[in-house]
Amino acid sequence: MHNILVLGGTIEATRLVAELASAGLPCTLSYAGRVERPKPQPVPVRVGGFGGTDGLASYLREHAITHLIDATHPFAAQISRNALHAAQATGTPLLALTRPPWTASPGDNWQTVPDIPAAAAALAGPARRILLALGRMHLAAFAQAPQHHYLLRLVDPPEAPPPLPDHHIILDRGPFDAASDEALMRAHRIDLVVSKNAGGSGAQAKLIAARALGLPVLMIDRPALPARHETHEIRTTLDWLMG
Ligand code: NAP
Repeated sequence: MHNILVLGGTIEATRLVAELASAGLPCTLSYAGRVERPKPQPVPVRVGGFGGTDGLASYLREHAITHLIDATHPFAAQISRNALHAAQATGTPLLALTRPPWTASPGDNWQTVPDIPAAAAALAGPARRILLALGRMHLAAFAQAPQHHYLLRLVDPPEAPPPLPDHHIILDRGPFDAASDEALMRAHRIDLVVSKNAGGSGAQAKLIAARALGLPVLMIDRPALPARHETHEIRTTLDWLMG
């Protein structure tokens, strides 16, 4: 009998739990609680942190979880580390369902930086019009480059005004499409896109639009994670569960 815990907050997790529900495999989807109105799901949902590695390990034991699937965002490094350590501590089988990183294609003009502070540091220089597609928790790092106009695309309105003197907020959630992103960038006269290397299709539209418009992209690399059992495929995830 399966009792699967899926750590989510991504399109991949949403797709996976839809498959698990239609396959009749019991699972619970876990959200951190960052988004105010998450979309309804066909499986039970729990919301909020577990209380670190120990809290997650206790949850796995108390709920007799048979399989742990880490389908969190590649930049959510803390929960992925916690998942690995809690799985090891409890002997729970763990699989990470991840997206391959994006790679530059001909026509792309990417500058790669290792992390968000490095992206903010790379923005020293004359004022530009920047699409900063990062999520509200990362905006503070860019206060050190206040000369730019920032177009911010956020899922929820920020609780406090972003610490960026010249910004414009658009409330929207993916998946996005390249034609709309191109129109958005034209309308706002964007001349630089700052993006995390999230991978996947839902957020790739801005990169395709940047290529079409000949715009440079400041691409932030993923945080490093320890080696773990990993797949990019939902099919392989289902095989692993049935294996
Ligand atoms: P993080 O820095 O790796 O995690 C911080 C803490 O949030 C964790 O220690 C954990 O708290 C809690 N947490 C994170 N994901 C959780 C989940 N799925 N279920 C329950 N608790 C969770 O994570 P983050 O970067 O803030 O991301 C939070 C959520 O947003 C994740 O679900 C992620 O998939 C999603 N997301 C993140 C990004 C991004 O760029 N980081 C983008 C899109 C979606 P405890 O230690 O108390 O357990």
